[in-house]
Amino acid sequence: MVRVRFAPSPTGPLHIGGVRTALYNYLFARQQGGKMILRIEDTDQTRFVPGAEQYIIEALDWLGIQFDEGVHLGGPYGPYRQSDRKELYRQYAEQLIRDGWAYYAFDRPEALEAKRKEYEAQKKTFQYDCTTRANMENSLTMPAEEVQRRLADGEPYVLRFKFPDNTDITVHDLIRGQVTMNSRLLDDKVLFKSDGMPTYHLANIVDDHLMEITHVIRGEEWLPSAPLHVMLYKAFGWQAPQFAHLPLLLKPEGNGKLSKRDGDRLGFPVFPLEWHDPKSGEVSSGYREQGYLPQAVVNMLALLGWNPGNDQEMMSIDDLIRLFSIEHISKSGAKFNLDKARWFQHEYFQQLPDEQVADMLEAQVKEHGIEAGRDYIVKVAAMMKERITFPSELWDTCCYFFQAPTEYDPAAVKKRWQPGMETHMAKVIELLNTVPFEYDALHQALLEDYIKGNGLNTGAVMNSLRLSVVGKTVGPDMLTLVMMLGKEEVIRRVERAIANIKN
Ligand code: GLU
Repeated sequence: MVRVRFAPSPTGPLHIGGVRTALYNYLFARQQGGKMILRIEDTDQTRFVPGAEQYIIEALDWLGIQFDEGVHLGGPYGPYRQSDRKELYRQYAEQLIRDGWAYYAFDRPEALEAKRKEYEAQKKTFQYDCTTRANMENSLTMPAEEVQRRLADGEPYVLRFKFPDNTDITVHDLIRGQVTMNSRLLDDKVLFKSDGMPTYHLANIVDDHLMEITHVIRGEEWLPSAPLHVMLYKAFGWQAPQFAHLPLLLKPEGNGKLSKRDGDRLGFPVFPLEWHDPKSGEVSSGYREQGYLPQAVVNMLALLGWNPGNDQEMMSIDDLIRLFSIEHISKSGAKFNLDKARWFQHEYFQQLPDEQVADMLEAQVKEHGIEAGRDYIVKVAAMMKERITFPSELWDTCCYFFQAPTEYDPAAVKKRWQPGMETHMAKVIELLNTVPFEYDALHQALLEDYIKGNGLNTGAVMNSLRLSVVGKTVGPDMLTLVMMLGKEEVIRRVERAIANIKN
């Protein structure tokens, strides 16, 4: 039975890289008929940010990434928040001490700082590891009675992992194959502190074991920690889960990790939902608030680092569940592509039912104080949808269906409203008043008989009509628009244009 977890730390809003990690876990779990768990890793209380946990839950819910167990759902392996599991970790820390896999270190922050300086002076970097621990203040270098005395006196300490000297440690990664690192390169990480709190490394391994996690799918930034994790499983005598470290999400230019600053610089959100920072009050934009559809965000993110083995791009979440495979996750980083994000958004917007687009449009029409019939709004929505990417564009794109223009695009006036245009527009009014108000009849009378019959410039006349009705030279087929607006309204607009446009 496959069991995977998404294990964020509530230190702020969830970055879209984190969302992608959650998504891949979800796709894998669903495909394998397994379980998806949300565990909150909040052992580092200094980095705790109020509201972050709620944000994570809301963001993943918006995107349709569902959990089977978790901090918000409960489940048979709970509690799912590490601060609620605090009591549980001490016994495992003690087990490591007992078995010789960990040791007490009493070095004061000042002493560690002094060591660092000493090494820096020799152009070296200090690391607390198997080559340096013999010169430090720890239970490996002091008599047992001294250790006992310090513990009894309540002296602050940390527990560090004791890597065996000069040993190759291999991580079997489902994406990267075998990754081997020598223990001399690895520092004796802190596992537990005298305040009774475990660090990420200890809590993460204990919980993955107790929650019977079978696959750890997480960002590449955790690969350097993986040898320690492999060794911890060994130290506990537990079977390690399978690891898959996902490629980084890169800046659009490809150099370096995608950051919030890139989003600000290039105008796209790096967070799923808008985030109000509780400390600074700073607001960061979100995909949801910018009008992105969750389906579009999911599809776009799924393809940042994975492909279905062919060049298929449009995939619903159900398609993704069916097609997902860890083998097709790439090793190299995936460049964020804003054009692609917009492209997906446009495609998914086209898939919305006309009624739903009409709901959005109706709200904006009302906001502008205009009453319009529902049928008319649905018709406009259906006709104009193809021009829309974001809901916020609806009003600007469709406003002339609901109100006459008050201004006329000066560049278009200059180009199209040539001397004598008033006469042609007066003719349009005359035709509207005399010809049956039907598409084909108007087409024949205006375009064939009047414009072509008199050798006039079709572009100039029709664009002047468009200017009169729309205010600019964009929009759908002109006669379709005339039919939608109705005879009286079009005549009124053309009369106004004749009176107001001066070239
Ligand atoms: N708490 C870690 C994070 O914030 C989890 C890493 C892991 O999945 O092991 O990303």
